[in-house]
Amino acid sequence: MLTSEEALALIQAQMPQPQVMRRPLEEALGLILARPVAARCDLPRFDNSAVDGYAVAVAPTVMSSPATATFKIVGASEAGRPFRGRIKCGEAVRILTGAAIPRGADAVIMQEQVTCNGQCVTVSQAPVLGQHIRRQREEIQRGEVALQAGTVLCPREIGWLAALGHREVPVYRRPVVGILITGDELRAPGSRLGAGEIYESNGALLSALVRQNRAEDRRLGIVIDKPAPLAAAIRRGVTSDLLLISGGVSVGDRDFVRAACVACGVREIFWRVDIKPGMPLFFGKRGRTLVFGLPGNPVSVFVTFEAFVKPALHLLMGMTWCDEYSTPAVLDGPLHVSKNRRTHFIRIKCKTGADGVLRVRPSAGQGSHHLRSLAEADGWLRVNSDAIPQIGDIVKIKQMPA
Ligand code: AMP
Ligand code: MG
Repeated sequence: MLTSEEALALIQAQMPQPQVMRRPLEEALGLILARPVAARCDLPRFDNSAVDGYAVAVAPTVMSSPATATFKIVGASEAGRPFRGRIKCGEAVRILTGAAIPRGADAVIMQEQVTCNGQCVTVSQAPVLGQHIRRQREEIQRGEVALQAGTVLCPREIGWLAALGHREVPVYRRPVVGILITGDELRAPGSRLGAGEIYESNGALLSALVRQNRAEDRRLGIVIDKPAPLAAAIRRGVTSDLLLISGGVSVGDRDFVRAACVACGVREIFWRVDIKPGMPLFFGKRGRTLVFGLPGNPVSVFVTFEAFVKPALHLLMGMTWCDEYSTPAVLDGPLHVSKNRRTHFIRIKCKTGADGVLRVRPSAGQGSHHLRSLAEADGWLRVNSDAIPQIGDIVKIKQMPA
């Protein structure tokens, strides 16, 4: 059986080229820049005032008495309404924050530091040349690269690009992820349950996971465990970039997903991975569409999404993928790991002691149907059965994605 590393490598080898498109800034949150973006203007665009006060022509300032200098007010410069003239030595212009520095002015005096009588301002200390002036191009020059390709567009990057005059940006397209739920026993949350029926929860879980990973979810409903309706639903689903099918992928009498995928022209790349939970995972491809058949137990869905679907989504969106098990911690409780599966994904509870050391122990309830311990866990430990850590060992954990 494939190891989880081999399965991930097979998925990575099947990734289609991420597609580039221009999107308006307001739709770009969470997307990845596909090309470097240059400044469309200098920032600041012009010399401007950092404070409310008076722009003055300083050099050479004549102190009118040993302790004061006086400047004659000749106009005003406000944000968006610059003073048009040029000022001479001994003159001042009333200026507000962000307003253009008038020609001839070479310093700004804060209004708190002057005495003003309407026509003149008097200061008790000669201003320093250039004080309180934000200089043109101080931050960036027009044409200079403002953000590199590969940058994740978060709110601050979006604000930065807007300040540089960009309305649209080249980004990798947000993948559309179809979510198809299978199972005769499943009813939508909120509906009345008959004998043997349960609430359908993988749809809500997968939608949330897809959105959390900045892709677009496309719910395809619940389909019964029969080959023909399943095949019809899969045909609708393979128009997405990625199709996630929940349930029906194991060896039970009503598990038709694998056969239905193949009947719909999905090329099987692998079925079954040596992991617990999530062993019967199916992966295939049809055209550009990646198809994942996720085992139906809710914890298996979560584990296989995090370990295999999430890397695929990241790569589809132009991001790189790094292993997430990177936080060191001390193992503080015994692990019960069966030898009949290689890689085990174990829910853990974390605690930082008074000594500042992060300690972890397995959650109670490691069954693949134990949604409660999934909801209550703080993170994951990934353990291979040929190297089971002992109490006191340093392990690398993954914190639960927020
Ligand atoms: P399956 O992989 O279809 O054999 O399902 C395995 C187990 O997970 C069964 O107990 C199902 O009832 C349960 N299950 C499958 N799909 C869902 C779902 N969408 N929501 C909640 N439980 C599910
Ligand atoms: Mg089922």
